Amino acid sequence: MRPTSAPYKKGMYAVLFDIDGTLIQTGGAGQLGFARAFADQFGVAKLSGEVSFAGRSDRAIALDLMRAHDVPQTDENWQRFQEAYLGNLPAALAELPGTVLPGIPAFIAALQQRSDVAIGLLTGNLRRGAEAKLTHYELWDHFPFGGFGDLATDRNEIAATALAAANDHAAACNGRSGPLREAMVIGDTVHDVRCGKSIGAYTVAVPTGQTSAETLSAEAPDVLLDDLSDCTPLLERIGAVLGTAR
Ligand SMILES: [Mg+2]
Repeated sequence: MRPTSAPYKKGMYAVLFDIDGTLIQTGGAGQLGFARAFADQFGVAKLSGEVSFAGRSDRAIALDLMRAHDVPQTDENWQRFQEAYLGNLPAALAELPGTVLPGIPAFIAALQQRSDVAIGLLTGNLRRGAEAKLTHYELWDHFPFGGFGDLATDRNEIAATALAAANDHAAACNGRSGPLREAMVIGDTVHDVRCGKSIGAYTVAVPTGQTSAETLSAEAPDVLLDDLSDCTPLLERIGAVLGTAR
């Protein structure tokens, strides 16, 4: 007789990834794309250093930069910014050396071993910006759903959108896998931990971006890892929630 391990529970698990500093490091391509868009569209020679980028939505960053450079925050200027930024981004990605962060391909492959795990995005990037970045690093096709920074300035709103998208995805798979049992949010900034908690997710922090392990630890994530090269604790968490892999 096979030993009984954790009983299998019908349901799905969603793993929601931040992009910059978590899946990839672009070498600053996003900021270069922002700088060129503001130069092309609004004649801004150098972006204000007062506006923080890490872990924030593209919309929030762009609106803050408009305010800092006396550019009216109109819908028209937001549209002009987006088109210029998205137009500049592929060249910026090609120009700057970047990388897929340690362990990411193996972790994604391990998650894809389970038919009851769905992987998605929870990012401040514009959807098309996320697509450009992850296509450049050959990761885009792994993420069928997500929450993005097109409409929201608040990261918690994006988290709610990502969770709704995960639920829709689970519902579309229903009959095969059942309801969403838990979401895991993985990110490299305090904003990722906070927005994960705002949706009741299991939060995982990695100091692979600009934020130190000490600063992340102060946010009390459920797990703090050096990087994602050994994801055993995360796979064990999923196993504890859903039961034995299948
Ligand atoms: Mg990040």
